[in-house]
Amino acid sequence: MRALVVFLLAIGFVSRSIAQSDDHAVRVEKQLLQEGVVRLVITSDHLSESTVVLTATLENMDSSVAMPFILELKGVGSRELCVFKIHDPSQSWHYKYHFEWKYGLRGGHPDPDAVYRLPYQDNEYHVVMQGNRGAFSHQAGSINEFAYDFAMPIGSTVCAARGGVVIGVRQDSDVGGSDEKFKLSDNYVLVRHSDGTYAEYIHLKKNGALVALGDTVAAGQPIGLSGVTGHTTGPHLHFAVFRLVDKPGGFERQSLPVRVRTKAVVLDELKQGNTY
Ligand SMILES: [Zn+2]
Repeated sequence: MRALVVFLLAIGFVSRSIAQSDDHAVRVEKQLLQEGVVRLVITSDHLSESTVVLTATLENMDSSVAMPFILELKGVGSRELCVFKIHDPSQSWHYKYHFEWKYGLRGGHPDPDAVYRLPYQDNEYHVVMQGNRGAFSHQAGSINEFAYDFAMPIGSTVCAARGGVVIGVRQDSDVGGSDEKFKLSDNYVLVRHSDGTYAEYIHLKKNGALVALGDTVAAGQPIGLSGVTGHTTGPHLHFAVFRLVDKPGGFERQSLPVRVRTKAVVLDELKQGNTY
């Protein structure tokens, strides 16, 4: 699962090819308003809360915002990100910009008393095929250091592990696999909790969202149907909790451990290979 998407663009140059199934939930487009005046427009399709950092290298151009520019994007749709304007009209001009975005807004403070449910129905049991610090894609120090992959048949009902507000829904992808090229092809539901942390429910099936942006969901409420979209070796649900924190020049995703109430007991950690 990616949580960092990097775009590097310059005039006439796009740094990566774009497959149809890729999720560019947050994207920037440039508009040449007149010779030497460029407007960057940012659009969010599947996310109502995301954070963006923009940097730029400008030659003979001024920016309408100071760099690095950090923007909290709330709601879907398009808005102006900034304008680059020629400084000396008698000279040539050039610009290059770079932006990164991540799910969610900064400022979460994890509630130490929060207890999560298993993210599926009470009468079901599923095996943890990869747990915290798992070697495949939950490595220590990574953005998914604390995350669980529950093996489950396609179409299994995914339930909110904790209540909150839905801030991300994507369900238009129909492809997935173990190849890295599928990293941006995952369907998902994202939920913001009352403490400003977020949960992600990833790899849902096409049209597998049972909630919409802005919905308030209760713990245990069905929110989606599992699938095998995105970067995955087989049908499973990826579940992780995180927050965004500041760092010099920007922000980063911090993976958070969670306590989980299983059928029998509250556990600080679920073990890879165990069924709950
Ligand atoms: Zn995972």
